[in-house]
Amino acid sequence: MADARALLKTVFGFDDFRPGQEDIVASILGGQDVLAIMPTGAGKSLCYQLPALMRDGLTVVVSPLIALMRDQVAALQANGVEAGALTSNTDPYEAERIHQAIDDGVLKLLFMAPERLSIASGLLQRAGVSMLAIDEAHCVSQWGHDFRPDYLKIGALRDQLSAQLGHIQITAFTATADEETRGEIAAKLFTQEPDVFLGGFDRPNLFLAFEPKAQPKTQVADFVAQHPGEAGIVYCSSRAKTESFAEHLQSKGVEALAYHAGLDGETRQIRQDRFTREDGIVICATVAFGMGIDKPDVRFVVHADMPKSMESYYQEVGRAGRDGLPAATLTLYGIDDIKLRRLQIDDSDAPDDRKRADHQRLNALLALAEAPNCRRQVLLSFFGERDHGPCGHCDLCKSPVETYDGTQDAQKALSAMIRTGERFGLEHVIAVLRGEDTERVRTLRHDQLPTFGLGAHYDKHQWRDICRQMYALGLTSVDPQYGSWLVTEPGWAVLKQGETVALRHPPGPKERRQDRRRSSPKSKTPRKAKPPVDLSERDGELLMALKAKRTELARAQNVPAYVIFPDKTLVEMAMARPSSLDEMAEISGVGARKLEKFGAVFLEVVGQH
Ligand code: ADP
Ligand code: ZN
Repeated sequence: MADARALLKTVFGFDDFRPGQEDIVASILGGQDVLAIMPTGAGKSLCYQLPALMRDGLTVVVSPLIALMRDQVAALQANGVEAGALTSNTDPYEAERIHQAIDDGVLKLLFMAPERLSIASGLLQRAGVSMLAIDEAHCVSQWGHDFRPDYLKIGALRDQLSAQLGHIQITAFTATADEETRGEIAAKLFTQEPDVFLGGFDRPNLFLAFEPKAQPKTQVADFVAQHPGEAGIVYCSSRAKTESFAEHLQSKGVEALAYHAGLDGETRQIRQDRFTREDGIVICATVAFGMGIDKPDVRFVVHADMPKSMESYYQEVGRAGRDGLPAATLTLYGIDDIKLRRLQIDDSDAPDDRKRADHQRLNALLALAEAPNCRRQVLLSFFGERDHGPCGHCDLCKSPVETYDGTQDAQKALSAMIRTGERFGLEHVIAVLRGEDTERVRTLRHDQLPTFGLGAHYDKHQWRDICRQMYALGLTSVDPQYGSWLVTEPGWAVLKQGETVALRHPPGPKERRQDRRRSSPKSKTPRKAKPPVDLSERDGELLMALKAKRTELARAQNVPAYVIFPDKTLVEMAMARPSSLDEMAEISGVGARKLEKFGAVFLEVVGQH
């Protein structure tokens, strides 16, 4: 392992392994098959790249996304590693270079799209492949929404190659945790029991926050205004919304772009490239965006609409802050989101037990949304980690919410639903509760009901807040066809058996005004970039200069900025202010090749400040 550490420093410029990496590398070097489950951003790539450099011959990396391969190859080459990618997009000259490098026995890592596997077995035999690394290994799972049928060809390739070449080592990596998927990966990829590594799921650099949806465009714009000059993603549930959110942000002076499957391929490519290569673009997209994007310095992820499950939530917010620097997340959710998600599950073609499981995954997310305290504790315990204390880095740790015994309020709302025959939408139920004199109330003579006016102590918004919580807690359901609110079995238990309910105090008009004032920025100052960590003003200025140099170099070489150096390296450089190449080599992320190529250029920038 001493050799591995040395390469970690000289090639990648890292002083230390991240948690989990060292054990995985050791196991791979020991010849074991490996299945590693690690959260996004934990540093999976390094786990197969490092062993690939330490062995004879070629390692083939199967990866589902062409854009991702291209950027990974660029990043490896910038570190002086012989790497290439064969995809349907590879031009003939590049393909020739790769074939030559294979014949010369110098290529260390070859990235391949799964659909190329069956046609490449001859080439791979000639190359004497000894290891297959399967990235995004959950793509073999037929249940997952990322299912890629071509991933099923991996098994056949493994068998073909091992018939010719002897044992082929298989290493597989994914961030998807659930046990079912794990079983499928093991069954489809491995012929022998692999060493399984289940990484901790905590992403301590992510700030977690949820807000009930009130005025989503304003809420999103306010949030984005707090992150000037930073790259971020705003997830929306429909194509139309991606467009309207992008327009709204543009009207506030934000460089925002919409991205969805309805745009033509070229427009999508241009927008994705701008997002990965330029600093500070905000993309408003449907959730497919981000899966294939290897951008470590996404500084925030906002869900303008609630995700469909706990897993999706964590996967999507996990696209922020992969470089380990602080990143913010915000998820908006409301009654309509819950309805939509339930409807989507019910309308799917999945078998019944699958639907039940999907409802449960949604329930887990709702519990997170309505959590009374530390969100990270709720999140991590869902993933099986129950021994975390309050994190201090989520909205609820920062400003705890008040809960109260909401049993009586819940009973009032439930009884209003029942007295009106469970045949009405929320607006009417609330009108009855509040004792409102509406036309409908009069015609239906609902003012005669014993529950009429029992809830006059709250305004409409407060009742909506309470009913959303009750819905999220499963005390009520909504008829998908008519939109009428129904009382569920747990709801009846509250009504009749004295089950108690803790609710969050619903903010009144005054508190709502204060909230709005607190979250909206004072003036419409233009967005000015600020560093992701607290730097002194002087260091901040140097960082901006270093970034400008990085942009210049990245443009010239047509690679994403982080391929030159990631943010983290520049931040460290700005603080340490190296004055010689030796000192520069000490900075994390500066390996031998990058020192040689960029060391002097960046030293000069430091020297000028
Ligand atoms: P994953 O595939 O697990 O989402 P990546 O492999 O893309 O994560 O790694 C995320 C980021 O972490 C990359 O920018 C990578 O360079 C960086 N990284 C990986 N290992 C280390 C390490 N040991 N020290 C510092 N940074 C690391
Ligand atoms: Zn917390």
